[in-house]
Amino acid sequence: MTKTLVKAVCPHDCPDTCALLVTVEDGVATEVKGDPDHPTTAGVLCTKVSRYVDRTYHPERLLYPMRRVGRKGEGKFERISWDEALNTIADKLESIAARDPQAILPYSYAGTMGLVQGEAMAGRFFHRLGASLLDRTVCATAGFMGYKYTIGATVGTDVEQFQDAKLILIWGGNPIASNLHFWMRAQEAKRRGAKLIAIDPYRSLTAEKCHQHIAVLPGTDSALALGMMHVLIKEQLLDHEYIAQHTLGFGQLKDRAAEWTPERTAATCGITVDEVLNLAREYGRTAQSGDPVAIRVNYGLQRVRGGGMAVRNIACLPALVGAWRHAAGGIQLSSSGTFPANRAALQRPDLLAGRKVRTINMSTIGDDLLRDSAPDFGPKIEAVVVYNANPVAIAPESPKVQRGFEREDLFTVVLEHFQTDTADYADILLPATTQLEHVDVHLTYGHLYMMANNAAIAPLGEAKPNSEIFRLIARRMGFSGPLFEETDDELAAQAFDKRDSRAMHFDWESLKKTGWQKLNMPAAPFAHGGFYTPSGKCEFYSEAMLADGLDPLPTYIANYESVASNPELAAKYPLAMISPPARNFLNSTFVNVQSLRSTEGEPHLDIHPADAAARGIDNGDMVRIYNDRGAFVARARVTARARAGLVVGLSIWWKKYASDGKNANEVTSQRLTDMGRAPTFYDTLVQVERVDATLNNP
Ligand code: SF4
Repeated sequence: MTKTLVKAVCPHDCPDTCALLVTVEDGVATEVKGDPDHPTTAGVLCTKVSRYVDRTYHPERLLYPMRRVGRKGEGKFERISWDEALNTIADKLESIAARDPQAILPYSYAGTMGLVQGEAMAGRFFHRLGASLLDRTVCATAGFMGYKYTIGATVGTDVEQFQDAKLILIWGGNPIASNLHFWMRAQEAKRRGAKLIAIDPYRSLTAEKCHQHIAVLPGTDSALALGMMHVLIKEQLLDHEYIAQHTLGFGQLKDRAAEWTPERTAATCGITVDEVLNLAREYGRTAQSGDPVAIRVNYGLQRVRGGGMAVRNIACLPALVGAWRHAAGGIQLSSSGTFPANRAALQRPDLLAGRKVRTINMSTIGDDLLRDSAPDFGPKIEAVVVYNANPVAIAPESPKVQRGFEREDLFTVVLEHFQTDTADYADILLPATTQLEHVDVHLTYGHLYMMANNAAIAPLGEAKPNSEIFRLIARRMGFSGPLFEETDDELAAQAFDKRDSRAMHFDWESLKKTGWQKLNMPAAPFAHGGFYTPSGKCEFYSEAMLADGLDPLPTYIANYESVASNPELAAKYPLAMISPPARNFLNSTFVNVQSLRSTEGEPHLDIHPADAAARGIDNGDMVRIYNDRGAFVARARVTARARAGLVVGLSIWWKKYASDGKNANEVTSQRLTDMGRAPTFYDTLVQVERVDATLNNP
């Protein structure tokens, strides 16, 4: 028997990007473990990925190309050959492209975070074709923009430093479920005497384990940050020297923050005045005593109308108190901007050859699939090629998304591991390899290591890597030349720009052997200023925001769906709903792994006892959650984990596993955030009723 240990990388949409060790016995993967030598993985994987072998050899893996034989959405397919699949795709795309290639839309996101199996050969193919571009906004662009206006790039505190912080604000995230290796560092900090404060509308597993939980109303985080600024400034809990040397616009910020008294802040956020005062004082006084204060801000809070501004406001706080002076101080939203990824070399936008093509926002795919040709839109979408994504389950306002994919005149190709909700709508369904079966290179958004994924086993069945599928379609369509012949190793070798001092030592062949290499970065990236903004300072006042039509100063933007913005709607639908990740799923991945789905049980809705009592709902009742966009059912869990006025539906369930064939995105909207054109999943008002009461309502 031959037994090998292969260095690999977790490909999922998680900041931790764990280093994996895959045991392979006689060509079969038998175990996936966390690499104990990788500094952030430290030998620990989350429950989901520790089952990666089960997922790879899952009896429902797609192993052959298939053609739809049932109705769209019915999920009935028959096996065909690769030749037939590729010829069908090439013929159809060619005939559409002859009219207008922009009628073809790629739809992809973070089903794998790999740079090769993500947008490398796929990017080349769609650019050469002249297809519509996709604005990949569904997760992070609002917060990304808010952070970028303030700090200049998504560069922040190194996760390996958090254990030395004395105060950590865990703001808008549940790291036990979705950032486990940060949580391990936070736990270490706690053991060393640090205080952990969670700021989250929901009492998540993480919030429960912190010293304090501040349950703000959804969409009010920006107000809380402004209230903190007010107190820090009024009580002189500031680092004046840092402010003078490394920030821009303190005078204007001072005037703005003066408007945010603790009373106004508390009333806006739905918390007490003491909570505002104590949070600001704890943050300012800890920093003033010379100890590191750190913020882990996550993407949960930016899924509302003012989501970009919320992240911006919070990102101003470390500069006010000089927290950046310490390696363990500052803030982390994402580390992705630290990596000099060479996306242009991988995706080759120059293959557009000067053609101006439109961009479709993935967050409004529901509306856009239902649009006709129009001068302000361009051609009707006639074909969608979906890879690394499951829009029927994850995109907002799902009833429209589903209607779009049901269109008989839409040609849909799906590259997948499993027959997801979206795969059910495919005309041609292609089997893609998993991370164990292909090569890839990764940056991360939670630590600072470039990561290499070696193929551990041969592809199962007739599955092929995404890169190879796009090479083959390109060849069928007559796109020739070296750019369409490069191997995955050749692509991976171009992933990082070696002219950038952070990645000068990047060498693909040695990275494959070692598994990872840390970027060259100072431990405290902004201890001496050097922000990536136009001024080189932390910009409390941003000319770039003004030029983009935004308030150049931190401000508060109420949710679209709130009493403040729409009292009529709030009277009709009085409960705010959020749908953060369930611990055993990762976006919509892993929902079909039986053991993980069994742990989650069934779709639930957490509702506060007072809200439940007002509706005659008991723990365990089936409830209907609805608004003008749609409705879905779930089993009620009556619990104070959801603050009063809030309901929480942990996500993202595949619709096909829900009793009514629906999920939380039935009620979410396609409205976009203040910046970054991102979706507002957590800016949603609903009403809830017991299922047996539905006859009383339309
Ligand atoms: S999902 Fe996250 S925590 Fe789990 S193995 Fe992957 S990178 Fe690590």
